[in-house]
Amino acid sequence: MKFCPNCGTQLEPGAAYCFACGAKIPKPKTPLSASTTTSTNEIPVENSLSSENLQQPPKYDNYQTIPTENEYDEDTGSIAWGVIGFLLPLIGLILFLIWHRPMPKNAKLAGMGALIGCIVQIILFIILVALSVMTN
Ligand SMILES: [Zn+2]
Repeated sequence: MKFCPNCGTQLEPGAAYCFACGAKIPKPKTPLSASTTTSTNEIPVENSLSSENLQQPPKYDNYQTIPTENEYDEDTGSIAWGVIGFLLPLIGLILFLIWHRPMPKNAKLAGMGALIGCIVQIILFIILVALSVMTN
């Protein structure tokens, strides 16, 4: 079916002029193909854009929530890592470097334990040296 581009009246196939308003009708194939392509192009583009906009935010939310949940499952921040870092400062330092990104809470405790352990051991060493010097 063809329609007049001026008034929208339904036209007979092959009509050169609109019988309702007298407007000149372009060649039979061009108005049909042009109108159908523009109308069909506009609708899918709008649909795809709107569907992408609707689908993208939930996807990003999922990507954000899943890794953080996994991190929190293992990143308990247990005081045990601080105790291990305190007793074995070298291991605490290694744990701090390994866990710095995936498990910041555990890394912080292990690193703090290692730091405190190092300081305490240095103080004990100084005290021992001082005692040995004093006794001599
Ligand atoms: Zn017309």
